[in-house]
Amino acid sequence: MAREYLDFRSDTVTRPTPGMRRAMAEAEVGDDVFGDDPSAERLQRRIAEMLGKEAAIYVPSGTMSNLIGVRLHCKPGDEMICDAGCHIYNYEQAGYAQLSGVAVRTVNGRGGVMEVEQLDGLIRPADPHYVRTRLVTIENTHNRGGGRIQPYEVVKAICRWGHENGLATHLDGARLFNAAVATGIEAARWAKHFDTVSVCFSKGLGAPVGSALAGPRDLIAEALRHRKVLGGGMRQAGVIAAAALFALEHHVQRLADDHANAQRLADGIRKIDELELDPAQVDTNLVFFRVDPVWGAAADFAAKLKERGLLMLATAPTTIRAVTHLDVDEKDVDRALEILREVARRQNQ
Ligand SMILES: *Cc1c(COP(=O)(O)O)cnc(C)c1O
Repeated sequence: MAREYLDFRSDTVTRPTPGMRRAMAEAEVGDDVFGDDPSAERLQRRIAEMLGKEAAIYVPSGTMSNLIGVRLHCKPGDEMICDAGCHIYNYEQAGYAQLSGVAVRTVNGRGGVMEVEQLDGLIRPADPHYVRTRLVTIENTHNRGGGRIQPYEVVKAICRWGHENGLATHLDGARLFNAAVATGIEAARWAKHFDTVSVCFSKGLGAPVGSALAGPRDLIAEALRHRKVLGGGMRQAGVIAAAALFALEHHVQRLADDHANAQRLADGIRKIDELELDPAQVDTNLVFFRVDPVWGAAADFAAKLKERGLLMLATAPTTIRAVTHLDVDEKDVDRALEILREVARRQNQ
């Protein structure tokens, strides 16, 4: 995508900064499949430490990280419980079913937030008629929930409920650092309630690729086997691991800027009569809004924005998502608002 576009489609669109590129160019590397890549090893130690876990494994994507996380806890014929709007259930091709033989029991969380009362009674009886309930997963921040931060007490209660009932717990923390920076509750404090935690370096942290799965040493050793069979064994992985290390060093605290820019965008959208924020509350860096259905599809509205140099993503028939990130600043937000106002006004003429 050419530079002249203001790109609010996702926080995955960021380009490596000059400092990050330098770190990549200078990375010490080896063959990571032989366990010889010092930069990948360093990244795994660093992220495990930041999440308060014994070990971590570097993987190419959040999809693979979640897939492996679920596989570590569930065998074919097992079931996991998750929110119906979560990324694992909606946007990962049901890899848990295709590749791992795992079934899902969904719960209708509010904006992605499940309550522990909704989970009571969902555990299947020990009887050969049923699958075995083995796992509960939570997504924080919640993507389809509008970048919603899970209430800390709810996370604690659900994980306690899971563990008391013999279930494992997995956190899809693709944007966990957004939740940590926005709340001041450190990533490790969120993570400690879960057996395994997945985080992405390629979203708000601004690295070009990669995610990590963290957890107990024995499970992460097993995860190495799963990564290999899924084709995720990488050779001189240090080149990209160095970018992730740079991101952990330099791009965590600055997520607060993305959150401030998202508030600025949301405040501007609230003042455009033709558009409606949904959800109305913006917790982190994702902003969702609805266009008037009489205008036609959100995709058409997004196409009109694009003609004026603004990229946003139609995520449902009348819903558009805008995401703030490392490569958009306050000025870009103001320019985006001008374009939104102009296009909305024209639609009504
Ligand atoms: C992006 C995302 C993922 C998957 O990450 P990829 O690297 O795109 O595979 C998983 N969970 C959530 C909540 C995400 O936003």
